[in-house]
Parts: sequence; C-alpha cells; structure tokens
Amino acid sequence: MIELTGWGRYPRHSSDIVTPANPTALPSAMAGRTGFVARGNGRAYGDAAIGERLTLSTNRLDRIRAFDPATGRLTAEAGVLLADLLSAFVPRGLFPPVVPGTKFVTLGGMIAADVHGKNHHREGGFGEHVEALTLALPSGETAVCSRNENVELLDATIGGMGLTGTILEATFRLRPIQTGWMRQKTVVAPDLDRAVEALRETDASTYTVAWIDCLARGASLGRSLIYAAEHATLAEVEAFRPGAERFPPAKLGRLTMPFDLPTLTLNRISVAAFNELYFRRGSAQAGGPLLVPWDPYFFPLDGVGSWNRIYGRRGFLQYQCVVPTGPARAVLGEILERVSRHGIASFLAVLKQLGAGRGTLSFPLEGFTLALDIPVADRVFPLLDELDALVVKAGGRLYLAKDARQSRATFDAGYPGLDRFRKVRRDVGAAGRISSRLSARLGI
Ligand SMILES: Cc1cc2nc3c(=O)[nH]c(=O)nc-3n(C[C@H](O)[C@H](O)[C@H](O)COP(=O)(O)OP(=O)(O)OC[C@H]3O[C@@H](n4cnc5c(N)ncnc54)[C@H](O)[C@@H]3O)c2cc1C
Repeated sequence: MIELTGWGRYPRHSSDIVTPANPTALPSAMAGRTGFVARGNGRAYGDAAIGERLTLSTNRLDRIRAFDPATGRLTAEAGVLLADLLSAFVPRGLFPPVVPGTKFVTLGGMIAADVHGKNHHREGGFGEHVEALTLALPSGETAVCSRNENVELLDATIGGMGLTGTILEATFRLRPIQTGWMRQKTVVAPDLDRAVEALRETDASTYTVAWIDCLARGASLGRSLIYAAEHATLAEVEAFRPGAERFPPAKLGRLTMPFDLPTLTLNRISVAAFNELYFRRGSAQAGGPLLVPWDPYFFPLDGVGSWNRIYGRRGFLQYQCVVPTGPARAVLGEILERVSRHGIASFLAVLKQLGAGRGTLSFPLEGFTLALDIPVADRVFPLLDELDALVVKAGGRLYLAKDARQSRATFDAGYPGLDRFRKVRRDVGAAGRISSRLSARLGI
C-alpha cells in the first residue's frame, strides 16, 4: 500500500498499485480484483485516479503503435504522455486537436476526463476527436469502440473517469501547423461584463481564454485579460520574428519547487500584489498581435516543476464549475463576489467559454467555465458548498477531474447522463468491480 493523491494533494488515500509492463499484461492485473481504477499521470486534482483498493498505473503503456504522415492519424498506447507526443510531432509540423493546460497528462487521462482546451467553443473536447479506442473490461476481455462499433461504450468511456474499463490504446488525428508560434492578441476587460463580452467577441478565434483577477472587487470585479490566439503562419513568423526557429522546442522547466511553502506565503496580500503586476504587464501588451512560442502559450504553469507545493502540505482544491450561457454572467459574478469577500487568495483564476459536451459524463456544456485554485482550509468547505448550490440552481455542474469534495446531491443534479452511465457500467461488468475514491464518494 502506498499513499496517493491527485495534483491538489488533497485528499490522501492508501492504495495498492501495480504497473503492468504492457497492454497484454493489464487484463491479468485486474483478474479477480475489485475496487480498482486506472491511473495516468496523476494530474486530476482530487481522488479520481486513486483506486478504492488497487490503482493500475499505465506508466509503461507508452508506445506509439501506428502513424500515417499523410493523414496525421496516430494510434498510441494510453500511457503515452502528451509532452512526448508534442516533442515528437511539433517539429514535424503536427499538433493535437485539443490540449489541456498542462502537457504532463496521458492519452488515457485526456480521454477519460474528455479534457477541454482553449478551443472547446470551436473544436469540442478531446473525446470528440477519438476515432477508436481499445478498452480492457473487468471480465478480461477487450472491446474496440469507434464511431460505428460499441458507440454507447465509447461515449461512456469519453469523460467516464476510468469507470467503464481501462483504455489500452486510442486513435486520433494530429493537425498540420505551419510553425510552432502562436499569434496572440490580448484584450483588457475592466470588469466581468466586459470579460464575458470579450470572450464572446473573440470566439471566432481558434483559442481563447481569460485570466481573471479574482481579488478585484466593486466596479473592477472580474477584471480580466483575454488571450485569443491562432497558430501563426510561416509568413507571419518571417515578417515578425525574422530568423526565429520555425518550431521552438518545448521549454524544460528550469524552476522547480523543492519543498512545501508555508501556507501563509500565499495570502491575500501576496496574491493581490502579483495580480496587480500581472494585470498591468498584460494591459501593456494589449492590442496588436504578439508572436509567442506554443509551449508557454498552452502550458504556462509547466514552466515551474511541482508548483502544486506552493499551497503547502495541506494541499489545494481546484473549484471548476460550468454555468449555462444565460445565467453565466450573474452566477459567476456572485461566485467571484463571495470568494473575494471571504478573502480567499486564488492564485489562478481562469474563465473559458465552452461548447456542448460529447461523453455521457463529460463536463462541458454550452456556457462559461470558471476555475479557481483554493488552498485547503476548514473555512473554505462551507463556502464551496454555497457556490455549488448557485451552480446547480443555474443548471451547471462541477468538473470531476478537478473535484475532491462535492456532495452526491450536487453531482446527481449536475449530470443528467448518470443513469445511462450506470447502465453501461452494469452492462460491461464494471459496476461493483471498478471503483475509484471519487466514484465511491459520489456513489457512481
Ligand atoms: C496544471 C493543470 C492544468 C489542467 N488544465 C486542464 C484543462 O485546461 N482542461 C481540462 O479539461 N483539464 C485540465 N486539467 C486536468 C487534466 O487534464 C485531467 O485531470 C487529466 O485527466 C489528467 O490526465 P492524467 O494522465 O494525469 O490522468 P490521471 O489524473 O492519472 O487520471 C484522471 C482520470 O482518468 C482516468 N484514467 C487515466 N488513464 C486511464 C486509462 N488508461 N483508462 C481509463 N481511465 C484512465 C483515471 O481513472 C482518472 O479517473 C489540468 C490539470 C493540471 C494539473
């Protein structure tokens, strides 16, 4: 038994862990076992990748199995890291259709959480782009799922948080890019109304995201910087960055957090000071396009290794909700107001526009998603319960890949596909066999 956590380092649970050497060894690791779930790279924040009794690590399922340069069609094992795919394919002018905010995730983890990127409003989640996958079922059999084979099982597995089986490999297509640069435009929004408007106005851009100063209050509540971007063309790079490398390499994180910071380091004053500086720097760059390398554009946090340790040993929660477009402005305003009133210093606050989701249990719905990092402290739990009530009343939901604490009632209300999902679990023999700490907590 070892102690496992997600990226937020809360909660902590003990579990056995096994690491099958290859896809063929995986079914026997599950044989006769109950209370197990797959684990990719452990970047889900809460308890999703911790088995109730056994955790199946996919670390060694790390081979690319097939690639067709003419179409970009790629088949890879589920434990392949996005970082490795990017290192291999960006220099060849190819990019995944969807990437989340860190590249240290596995292919299996991206499918199981149906991750969304800054392009969800236009391209959907990663699951939308999965052409086929092979799933190891608890019975020891494997099932191939595609757009015309085992479609219900495919839809339940996309966003299904590992609860339908263990993904062994998957096929999707990489997209051509002319360069590894992003043409980024920054819009300054002095308040939340303008931030929501700016996200809408920039939704013709392939990628958009807003950084919010979650400590701003009063007339400045919700002040934000909106980053809209496209993959830059070769002509743009030659014009604006003459002599620049066409495909800048991924940045190796030079900084790393070698120890836990005392919890007091991140307080209202330090975060407010950081936010002020960040807002001013971003505002100074507003307007005209700027060319930035792909790595810091998509994965700004990956530059600091183990940054989750800045929240101290108790860890942190990421509160990520989505609220349908109609009530979004009012509900998100209320959430920011309450968080700010409590003096909670969320170091990271991100607002994005989402389109409809694909999987039976996928998080996205048409609306706006807000993500806040919140250090764990006894006083934050009642506040977060209050925020849940606002989200659920507005027809929204919380993201399972970030969750460590929502109640069953909140979950049930937010996920209308739950009964269908449970049925698929029964049909493939996963109910009562596959369970994570998350599924046990939420009664999935
Ligand atoms: C800094 C940071 C930024 C992030 N930004 C975003 C973002 O922008 N958008 C977004 O959507 N998410 C985001 N995430 C969340 C992250 O993308 C997801 O949690 C993703 O699932 C993590 O992948 P992983 O390989 O680490 O999976 P893990 O955390 O190990 O597992 C996550 C879930 O996937 C299941 N799983 C893993 N592998 C398999 C498999 N082979 N078969 C079946 N199930 C499997 C696990 O059981 C678990 O339920 C972010 C996380 C971090 C830390």
